[in-house]
Amino acid sequence: MDLQERDERRAVAEAAVEELSEIGVVGVVLPWVDTSGITRTKSVPLGKLPSAAAWGVGMSPVFDGFLLDDSIVAGRYAGSALGDLRLHPDLSRLTLLAGQPGWAWAPVDRYRQDGQPHVQDSRSLLRRLTGELAGEGFTVKAAFEIEWVASQAAGLPDDPDAFVPALTGPAYGLTRLIEVSDYGRDLLEALDAQNVVVDQFHPEYAAGQLEVSVAAEDPIGAADTSVLVRATIRAISAQHGLRVSFSPKVTAEGVGNGGHVHLSVWREDQNLMNGGPGTFGLTADGEAFMAGVLDHLPGLLALGAPSVASYLRLVPSHWAGAYAAWGLENRETALRFVTGADGERQSAANVEVKSVDAAANPYLLMAGLLAAGRAGLRAGSTLPEPVGIDPGTLTDEGRRDAGIRGLPTSLEEAVRAFESDAVLTEAFGEELSVSIAEVRRGEIALFDGVSPAGVAAAVRWRH
Ligand code: GLU
Ligand code: MG
Repeated sequence: MDLQERDERRAVAEAAVEELSEIGVVGVVLPWVDTSGITRTKSVPLGKLPSAAAWGVGMSPVFDGFLLDDSIVAGRYAGSALGDLRLHPDLSRLTLLAGQPGWAWAPVDRYRQDGQPHVQDSRSLLRRLTGELAGEGFTVKAAFEIEWVASQAAGLPDDPDAFVPALTGPAYGLTRLIEVSDYGRDLLEALDAQNVVVDQFHPEYAAGQLEVSVAAEDPIGAADTSVLVRATIRAISAQHGLRVSFSPKVTAEGVGNGGHVHLSVWREDQNLMNGGPGTFGLTADGEAFMAGVLDHLPGLLALGAPSVASYLRLVPSHWAGAYAAWGLENRETALRFVTGADGERQSAANVEVKSVDAAANPYLLMAGLLAAGRAGLRAGSTLPEPVGIDPGTLTDEGRRDAGIRGLPTSLEEAVRAFESDAVLTEAFGEELSVSIAEVRRGEIALFDGVSPAGVAAAVRWRH
């Protein structure tokens, strides 16, 4: 970032300040997501936005080594209290927060003082990979689904941190939607006011569980939206006296919260997931992209299922995608291929990555998915046969015969797969790759010997 760019950024901010001050905005939230998947933040009073835009806001690089309980790993490249990074708001995504009156919001990129992007900054990494893919002629459209549970804020008299479902109606039940009538309306209204295009809002399967899905957009936009939607859900929930959790597994039993990612790869205005001669209409490039994601899924889980709690969720027959396989509209394979209805396929066809959850840093996960898909494109990879049943209903032998691999069943397994995945570690670079592995191992050590119920309780209110 040179002086001219700093000046340009300042000018954009000055214009925004004028507009925002007229509508009563007082402060601007400047969030980023750390390696462990927690959204951290600083904020500035509105008048300071121009200087923040030009020079950034100071923040220690220590957060690269933060764990979900706020302890810090002393890593090779992360976790040091020395140095300073500059948080630069991306004003192209400046948003008036409907759930926090008086506040605006702009996600930040973390730069060094010399104006270069910080090598461990996940949003900068995703921008770089998106650009590289565009250089090869491809764009990606993506969306994160968001599942969460709503709890009564007070918990139980003897355990204020207990999860007490705030809704009693049945899964997908109209009763449950009626129970959240006012809350759901306020949420839809807030998201709409923030220009988030909601596709659906519905009661999910687990106790107290709800879901919002949003329209696809460019990869950085999708990751930003995922952060913004969750912040909005939290804010509106607080207004309604609810406590919410996006944790992969809120209690040890039952179904967890997923954070599925929808992806389609495009060349100019052609959706490559449709209109080709391959299985279910895939083009060769669409298939290659998907095959790349499938091939790299074990390592990708260190990004997309980044918590010890993620592996309590990622079990067969829970719609979590516990097997490395793909199928048409198969909710038990890691990759669910979606064509859409006849007539809308050109815009609708996409692949849903089901194994991942909302503990993920969405920028890291999306960067990993792009790197994996790009490797598939470059190699012209092909997919195995699609799977038309729940792989969990087969014997080990049956799965072997069908070419269905299991996925890592623990965070340690996923970290090892990540470390030995040259496509992912080369795309991410040495510093970030090492820090990701160290932060994951830090969480593993944190929960050493802790029961599933203990892990679920400890993670519950962190995500
Ligand atoms: N809650 C499930 C999960 O853990 C997903 C349910 C669905 O397919 O939407 O991913
Ligand atoms: Mg769902």
